[in-house]
Amino acid sequence: MNVYDSERMADILSPHGYSLADQPDEADLVILNTCHIREKAAEKVYSELGRMRRTQQARRAQGSDMTIAVAGCVAQAEGSEIIRRAPVVDMVFGPQTYHRLPEMLAQLDREGARRKIVETDFPVEEKFDTLNSAGNHGGVTAFLTVQEGCDKFCTYCVVPYTRGAEFSRPVPDVLAEARRLAGAGVREITLLGQNVNAYHGEAADGRNWSLGRLIREIAGISGIERIRYTTSYPSEMDRDLISAHAEVPQLMPYLHLPVQSGSDRVLEAMNRRHTAAEYLALVEQIRAARPDIALSSDFIVGFPGENQRDFEATMELVANVGFAQAYSFKYSARPGTPAAAMPYQIDEAEKSDRLQILQQLLNEQQQAFNAACVGQDFDILFEKPGRGAGQIVGRSPYLQPVHIEGTADLIGNITQVRITAHSANSLSGTRVVDRDATPLDSTRQAGARA
Ligand code: SAH
Ligand code: SF4
Repeated sequence: MNVYDSERMADILSPHGYSLADQPDEADLVILNTCHIREKAAEKVYSELGRMRRTQQARRAQGSDMTIAVAGCVAQAEGSEIIRRAPVVDMVFGPQTYHRLPEMLAQLDREGARRKIVETDFPVEEKFDTLNSAGNHGGVTAFLTVQEGCDKFCTYCVVPYTRGAEFSRPVPDVLAEARRLAGAGVREITLLGQNVNAYHGEAADGRNWSLGRLIREIAGISGIERIRYTTSYPSEMDRDLISAHAEVPQLMPYLHLPVQSGSDRVLEAMNRRHTAAEYLALVEQIRAARPDIALSSDFIVGFPGENQRDFEATMELVANVGFAQAYSFKYSARPGTPAAAMPYQIDEAEKSDRLQILQQLLNEQQQAFNAACVGQDFDILFEKPGRGAGQIVGRSPYLQPVHIEGTADLIGNITQVRITAHSANSLSGTRVVDRDATPLDSTRQAGARA
């Protein structure tokens, strides 16, 4: 979502004479778009600001200047504290105020160094009304935010505080943006939201549409060949969305469905609102709808009070499901969240041990999944030139990067590729020629679950 937000900031500033610089030292304005989800991400902001201060000094020595802004969730959470800790910062603005950027910059221009700007309101509707995402910067894949904020209040998480309450963009706005993207050459859209499957945007008919309904409509837009969505909350996977996986060929057979833990005790303390058994039952329903679907997830180890048995329950759940990919984290106590004040915080060494054990299993599963892709034919959407000469890179239906020998004219096309090798995070293969099935049909057929 931060990538999407950064692109929108660039769009908003472009009519005001700004364009993207290649390097920070070429920039009149630097915006750090920040993440507050874990302590490590938040602390990186300050080391980066140290670097920016030196860049600013170097530019001043040459007679130019640089404005420094901090955007995103660290800005929202810490506000003017950022300026206190790093006086080099001129502007601090939260994730719901960036549509006011031109106004903020004009104000800074007028008042100069005499004043700093801190904007941490939540005018989320106003923000989406002003968004203009015409410029997709030429890619064949794009993100499209349909929902923002969260009312779930998992006890470890800052998102409900930094991004605010759940908000769904109206259906006509989303469809207009999707059509614009398709017109600009985008073939794959990833619908974004902190709880994307809680989407309930108002449609032109006055009804609230679910994510499943929205996906079916987007699938009808000419040029859009692939649809993905992220991130989903397990208990918001409704019947209609699950059946969309069976019925909408453009919906890719890959789903990120965070579970966090396999222990009911921990899930309850996290306020996740489902049990491990309910998650497993959901996975079964999704696989019944789309047998070739591959799953990915998020895990937190070392949540306060997590004991060895709880951790083993997580290992068991992983073994039961079999994930194609996953993200796993040590629990990070975040200021203001209920879990930060819970007793029995786990020590760092224990968290590290558990993380290592979990990651080993998750890596093995990812390797097994990638290895089982070798010998299969996949439809690949080629996105860009590869690192090596004469190489291009695209994505499989399962989001794995796929490298082949090929020319740039394939970029933007969906092409059938026979997978011949795999590495830790990617696949390689060769083009399959002389096929007559349509690309969409072959996506369905080629996706036998590894
Ligand atoms: N809305 C999504 C996830 C948003 S945050 C969901 O509910 O699944 C992305 C991931 O960061 C989470 O899934 C969780 O695994 C991790 N995360 C969030 N807060 C964390 C914390 N305090 N410590 C460690 N990991 C955290
Ligand atoms: Fe955070 Fe996701 Fe829970 Fe919302 S549902 S509080 S974003 S982890």
